[in-house]
Amino acid sequence: MQYPTQPIIPIEEQFKIMADTAPVLIWISNIDKLCYFFNAGWLRFTGRTMEEEYGNGWTEGVHPDDLQRCLNIYLSSFDARKEFKMEYRLRRHDGIYRWLLDHGVPRYTADGTFAGFIGSCMDIDELLESERIKKNFISTESLQREQTLNEELSATNEELSASNEELAAINDELQQTQERFAILNDELENTVAHRTKALAESERTAQSLNEELTAINEEMMAANEELITSNEELLLSQEKLRQAVDQLAASEYKTRSIVENAPFPIGVYVGREMRIELTNQAILDVWGKGDNVVGKCYAEVLPELGNQDIYSKLDDVFTTGQSFHARNQRVDLVVNGKLKIYYFNFSFTALRNQAGEIYGVMNTAADVTDVVSAKQSIEESEERFRTMSEDTDVLIATADENSHATYFNKAWQNITGKSMRELQHFGWAELIHPDDRDSWIETYLTALKNKRSFSGEFRILSDNGDYRWLYARVPARYRADGTFVGFISSCVDITELKKDELRKNDFIGMVSHELKTPLTALNGLVQVAHSKLKRSEDVFLQNAMEKATVQVKKMGTMINGFLNMSRLESGKIMIDKRLFNLEALIREVIAEAELTASTHQINFDPCEPVYVYADEDKIGSVISNLLSNAVKYSPKGKVVEVKCHVEGSTAQVSVKDEGMGMKQQDTEKIFERYHRVETTHTRNISGFGIGLYLSAEIIERHDGRIWVESESGKGSTFYFNLPIELTD
Ligand code: ADP
Repeated sequence: MQYPTQPIIPIEEQFKIMADTAPVLIWISNIDKLCYFFNAGWLRFTGRTMEEEYGNGWTEGVHPDDLQRCLNIYLSSFDARKEFKMEYRLRRHDGIYRWLLDHGVPRYTADGTFAGFIGSCMDIDELLESERIKKNFISTESLQREQTLNEELSATNEELSASNEELAAINDELQQTQERFAILNDELENTVAHRTKALAESERTAQSLNEELTAINEEMMAANEELITSNEELLLSQEKLRQAVDQLAASEYKTRSIVENAPFPIGVYVGREMRIELTNQAILDVWGKGDNVVGKCYAEVLPELGNQDIYSKLDDVFTTGQSFHARNQRVDLVVNGKLKIYYFNFSFTALRNQAGEIYGVMNTAADVTDVVSAKQSIEESEERFRTMSEDTDVLIATADENSHATYFNKAWQNITGKSMRELQHFGWAELIHPDDRDSWIETYLTALKNKRSFSGEFRILSDNGDYRWLYARVPARYRADGTFVGFISSCVDITELKKDELRKNDFIGMVSHELKTPLTALNGLVQVAHSKLKRSEDVFLQNAMEKATVQVKKMGTMINGFLNMSRLESGKIMIDKRLFNLEALIREVIAEAELTASTHQINFDPCEPVYVYADEDKIGSVISNLLSNAVKYSPKGKVVEVKCHVEGSTAQVSVKDEGMGMKQQDTEKIFERYHRVETTHTRNISGFGIGLYLSAEIIERHDGRIWVESESGKGSTFYFNLPIELTD
């Protein structure tokens, strides 16, 4: 198909010109059914402006009787996209309604998209008028004139046909115009599409701009949110900062209060001139310069330290940053106007700011004057002790809580000829006489275990090869808090005393022995005389002989006691064991005692015969001693109760009196040699304090035990037990 060449004037303009010059009334509607174009022919016909006709404005010119029908046809055809033809009356500019034939066709763009309708209208009022006239003519003329009329009608018809042809021609023209219009319209559509595209592009540009804007906006919003977050963070950090400041203030307060309440002296000095910035009460008390020292210089407050090498130490710390520590340093301070000697452990520590620069020195100190003085007095006392200990003849040694001998004085070294080192680590124990060693070491270890003081005698090998007797007192030592420290022993050389004692013992033994022979003879004579004089009429002689018998017996017991003691001391006592009935022995001894103790009543609570393997004489002398003591130490007329019973594997004997009794502290000591309880009462009772000593030795040598239960003023009960000899 041949397309018309592009006109020089724009296509819209061309179309307008064409439409305006067309002999028909032309309207164009859009897809929204509203008319947006009326050609000049239309506007001339209606005498209205384009604006008035615009949209639905044209309907105002349509005859009210035709309007609804007209609209129905238009709208339904429009919806169906179908060509329509309709007739209606349109008001002409002179107010007269003229019949128009309106022919509407759908419009399409070049790409076939529906674009609305275009319509062309012709004024058919005259045509309709002639038809009306024709109808009137047919009804009014007579049938006779029908032929004529038919002819005329046919002529008219021909005319009409001619007119019709004209009309068809016009219609063809109109059709062609329409086609041209369609082409123009397509072009117009193209232009519109082009414009629309351009518009779309510009819209896209706008869209992308919009998107960019949106993006920018979003960024800005994000930035805004970040700002909000930063702001919140800022607020948070502000809060934290405030808290930190509060904490700092609190911690500074704390630090200050710690410093102020510290029980040891603290001072802070600032600048090389050592200006006092902070002090606590402890340092103020030590200085004794009053409370108003803050702000003053150290040297100004403590001028007495000028020649004590302290300023220079402070200066060194300020210069080098290295701390200075002093221990037990003497510092002479003028306190309350008096120069006094103090001892301090103190430190000077450099203080640095955040940049690490030294801005001052902190002084902490501990007043150790008391400690140093105590140490000095301990040292002095130790020195005194050492001097005393080194100059004395007493053998002094110390041992710690683990039995390590820590010190032996010169006397020890002199007597043994050994050095301190040789004596330590039980070197001393090797020097003890073999007969004494085990028992002494056992005594020592038992005391160590019980942390108890002890004493005793032992022989030690001297430098010149003979043994020396030592009497040792070994008190346990305790610290102030009561913990056990060890022992400090002092031994005196009792060799000479021992020798004297031995000589004395020998003498006693010898005298006793010598006395025994005449006494035995005397005893025999007295007993014979006594039995002979029993029949005498001389009552005096009778009584005298009886008393002489008792006294000789007493003397015999006494001499036996001394003899036994001297034998015991010299280790000559003999234990002669054999099996005997203890119960029978008790009866015998009681019977014998009753002879001399008629003033008291002795009751025996008998037991079954009980056999023991022991020295009958010596056990007899023990019972006899207990009985004579019970009588001796209780008032006349009192009862003495003797009991014997078996307890487990031992036979136990007890002697109970109603006498003077004794205090608790004496109950242990009465078994020691020569020990007598000293009271005004006992002073009038004769005795040597060897009876219980011998009894204890005898019982011990039988592997038995002897003890007393007593209450002062109420009486005593003496017990002893012996292992039972189990017989078939
Ligand atoms: P002596 O009786 O010769 O003094 P002992 O060795 O027999 O010697 O007794 C030692 C001390 O024990 C006595 O001096 C006495 O003080 C006390 N004593 C002994 N037996 C009794 C007793 N039954 N009641 C009170 N005190 C006693």
